[in-house]
Amino acid sequence: MLDSISKAFFHLIAQSGTLKKLASRYGMRRSASFARRFIAGETVAEAIEAARAVEARGMLISLDLLGESVTNLEEADAATRAYVGVLDAIVASGVERNISLKLTQLGLDVDKASAVDNLRKIMERAGPAGFFVRIDMEQSCYTDVTLEIFETLWEHGYRQMGVVLQSALRRSEADLTRMNALGARVRIVKGAYKEPKTVAYAKKTDVDAAYARMLKVLITDGHYGAIGTHDPAMIALARDWAREAGVTPERFEFQMLYGVRRDLQTMLVKAGYRVRVYIPFGREWFPYFMRRLGERPANVMFVIRGILGERG
Ligand SMILES: Cc1cc2nc3c(=O)[nH]c(=O)nc-3n(C[C@H](O)[C@H](O)[C@H](O)COP(=O)(O)OP(=O)(O)OC[C@H]3O[C@@H](n4cnc5c(N)ncnc54)[C@H](O)[C@@H]3O)c2cc1C
Repeated sequence: MLDSISKAFFHLIAQSGTLKKLASRYGMRRSASFARRFIAGETVAEAIEAARAVEARGMLISLDLLGESVTNLEEADAATRAYVGVLDAIVASGVERNISLKLTQLGLDVDKASAVDNLRKIMERAGPAGFFVRIDMEQSCYTDVTLEIFETLWEHGYRQMGVVLQSALRRSEADLTRMNALGARVRIVKGAYKEPKTVAYAKKTDVDAAYARMLKVLITDGHYGAIGTHDPAMIALARDWAREAGVTPERFEFQMLYGVRRDLQTMLVKAGYRVRVYIPFGREWFPYFMRRLGERPANVMFVIRGILGERG
């Protein structure tokens, strides 16, 4: 209940122009500014620096140029060009070639065909350079179209791509079976968006139970599955099931967000597991940042202290 109120509340205030201005002014200003706990910086150079530090801790990375819900084709083209620039910068830097992106950033809300074209442009550059491209999952109104686009490109031979499924949605267990049958690499997460009861579980315990069920299927039938969570209970289940099923640690990976549960990240690496850290960066960080606050209202105090500190 609290979880769903919190998500709804932060979703609402994420629309606030005033807050966005205030956050933009203070959130990234200095290396210790509050938004930097979750966002590596506004430039690709800062993201690459963060990626190097994560790699030095023995972890894998995925870089995500933040942006979503563009409202016209010019913005979608600009985002696509920016992504291609990010690919080039990653290649030049020598960090691992792995990115995550969102289809609404490539124009999905404006025109589906253009979004597909834009994704194809990115894949044309990413594929030959040996990148893996993860398509993040957005709100439930995009689930069908995201999976459809993924399947279309997959059929056209773009195989260095993966999708994300959210255990909060009732449909996701069936989608996992569908994606496993295709041979696709799936990341499972609980889901970061406020969703209607008609399509999503209202209680966190139900979301967690669905996650546990999906976890089992991902480990036994998945194709190098990605377990995206910071929940110690889910991580323990994954380790137990993998051991019982004889699935060795190089056949799946844990994934966590930049700045969240670094203790768990380190513990897993020490225990011999693969851990990938999802590293977001870019100027459009506000909605992503608000979702992180919505997941854990305790983070709000940390931000308030940050703002007061910055202003003082
Ligand atoms: C690599 C990765 C990629 C993701 N991609 C997507 C995506 O494409 N689409 C999507 O809808 N969602 C995505 N998410 C977000 C996900 O859906 C959840 O909202 C988020 O991971 C919190 O759920 P949890 O599994 O960590 O468990 P929870 O039960 O929410 O949290 C478990 C514990 O983790 C810690 N924790 C969790 N969140 C935070 C936080 N923000 N700050 C500090 N501590 C925290 C706390 O200790 C908490 O007790 C992604 C998450 C990860 C890790």
